[in-house]
Amino acid sequence: MSSKTVVPGDKLGVIEEFEAGEGALTHDGIVRAASVGQVKLDLKKHVVAIGKVRQGTLIPVPGDSIIGKVESAQSSAANVLILSVNDKTNRGGFTGLALFKIGRPMGRGRQRRTTACKTGDLVRATVISDKNTIIHISLDGPRDGVIYAVCSICGGALFRANNSAKCDTCGNIEDRKLAPDFGNMDLKL
Ligand SMILES: [Zn+2]
Repeated sequence: MSSKTVVPGDKLGVIEEFEAGEGALTHDGIVRAASVGQVKLDLKKHVVAIGKVRQGTLIPVPGDSIIGKVESAQSSAANVLILSVNDKTNRGGFTGLALFKIGRPMGRGRQRRTTACKTGDLVRATVISDKNTIIHISLDGPRDGVIYAVCSICGGALFRANNSAKCDTCGNIEDRKLAPDFGNMDLKL
């Protein structure tokens, strides 16, 4: 019995191993989750299906405030492992997808921000959509942004220096979309 929670698109296996059961689908020879839930393997029938999320696991919905760890980040998007929802610990293993607007003309006098967040950062974000059961999040809200980050050069903790994040140890300055309480949040995760 596996209790791993998956979201749509997660790879479950290949068709040589399993058939897609309820809540799963096959595409290009790969079996993927088509719904949010827990993986159920039937090893006798070689079927992988997605069961309902166990009770008590809250699926984040639009309007929720989440805190999560950035698992991967590019200039256009980031995947965030959700650790808490509305300040309550959530170990459902949900991933939020943040899309960043890039290539927009720069407003007058505004510095172009190239990096909203980096891998390993802790961020606060707002769930803006759960269309197709993909959890879309945004870092644009007034309370949202990076709340904790370390220096990409020396690994020291970063602190706020005006609108940038500055390393106390080596003086390196990094660009982030900072939350108002960046660097001084009392983390309870
Ligand atoms: Zn440093």
